[in-house]
Amino acid sequence: MLLGEVREEIVRVCRELSSAGLVVGTAGNVSVRSGDLVAVTPSGLEYADLSAGLVGVHRLDGTPVEAPLKPTSELPLHLAVYAGTDAAAVVHTHSLAATAVSTLADELPAIHYYVAMFGGPVRVSPYATYGTDQLARNVVEALRGRTGCIMGSHGAVTIGPDLKTAHTRSLYLEWLSDLYLRATAAGKPRLLPPEEIEAVARKLTTYGQGVSLGGGAGDWGGAAPMRTGRQRVPSVPIAAWVPLRPPPGPRSTKAIPTAMAPPTKGPIRYAHHEVQSFRTRAGPSDRAGFIDAPLTGEPHSPARAI
Ligand SMILES: [Zn+2]
Repeated sequence: MLLGEVREEIVRVCRELSSAGLVVGTAGNVSVRSGDLVAVTPSGLEYADLSAGLVGVHRLDGTPVEAPLKPTSELPLHLAVYAGTDAAAVVHTHSLAATAVSTLADELPAIHYYVAMFGGPVRVSPYATYGTDQLARNVVEALRGRTGCIMGSHGAVTIGPDLKTAHTRSLYLEWLSDLYLRATAAGKPRLLPPEEIEAVARKLTTYGQGVSLGGGAGDWGGAAPMRTGRQRVPSVPIAAWVPLRPPPGPRSTKAIPTAMAPPTKGPIRYAHHEVQSFRTRAGPSDRAGFIDAPLTGEPHSPARAI
């Protein structure tokens, strides 16, 4: 079987994406480039029914080489990413938090140093109909100098020099998106300056090459830098021990509201805060994706929301 190992790995990653809840049903798609060939998931197939033989192999122009099923409708997107970057793997999901952010903001700003993994704040590409060349162009533009992007009112894309890296980045992009939703639901998060993100990117790269954390190199360790548009993005290692979800704590949904699970009851002040948060997110934003000031002009902090 052509690219047998690659196709097996795609099946494995698709099942992991499914079990992690990053894709639902037949949503999302995964591909790997190997030389002049691209192995990509087929269209409309439940991941439970996917097998390596059903993962199609196509040329870089989309021509099927060994593909028993129709390829994903987003094949143009995958091919455009391979044409426009040095990526060797693409993971596209409709993961819930990233997709929620895609409806709210123009950018996932530097609220946490993890954005260094993506080369900086993660852009939200303009909406275009799924499967179209316009969507593919929008995504490639949003990936300029980045290793991931959020697709307006659609989902998320992460890329990497290999499938493991692209897959892991999809998990961290979802974590960051969830963090953004929680932080903006509770107040106005502080942003890290660009020079700090650049410093962290350099630090993490050095760190991954020199030190093994928790019994192995990070998922970015040893990966070659990729060309993504005009900029070169450093390979950023990530510690294997970092939890993908916030640890459980003595926090209640009343104290830490999220956009996905608003509390059904709470103090009046809290309800006011939620309305304020909603209007804040829906209002005009600066480049960082935030409104300049709370609409009421009142001091705005998590402490006041509780
Ligand atoms: Zn999609």
